[in-house]
Amino acid sequence: MTVHNVTEMLVRELLQDFFVKTNRLPCACEHCQDDIVALALNGLPTRYASSDIGEAYYKTQVLSSQVQSDIIRELTLAAGIVAKRPHHDASHEEQAAATEEAAAVTTEVAAAEASTKGDFAKDES
Ligand SMILES: [Zn+2]
Repeated sequence: MTVHNVTEMLVRELLQDFFVKTNRLPCACEHCQDDIVALALNGLPTRYASSDIGEAYYKTQVLSSQVQSDIIRELTLAAGIVAKRPHHDASHEEQAAATEEAAAVTTEVAAAEASTKGDFAKDES
């Protein structure tokens, strides 16, 4: 078993339990979920574990403390940001616009914008 960030596992679990399963997200596609997880993790401390025992210990600490409400708070903020500016919609619109205008320059600009926006959340994780 390799070293992993327990906070990321908790963020993904709580995203499922409190947002996806309760249908609180306007879009729950894989791309939007990854964006939300990345944004939420930027506001949270990382906690690394190298074994199942370390992970289990940390989870019992976390789930009885302030940290769970911190994670929910960050997930709520991140979900709001992604709901207003979902990357899936932006890339779909840019692809459609590029197809309509069919100019090589326009296609290049749209592609550059799409890659810049698409990389934003993951660059900061
Ligand atoms: Zn989506």
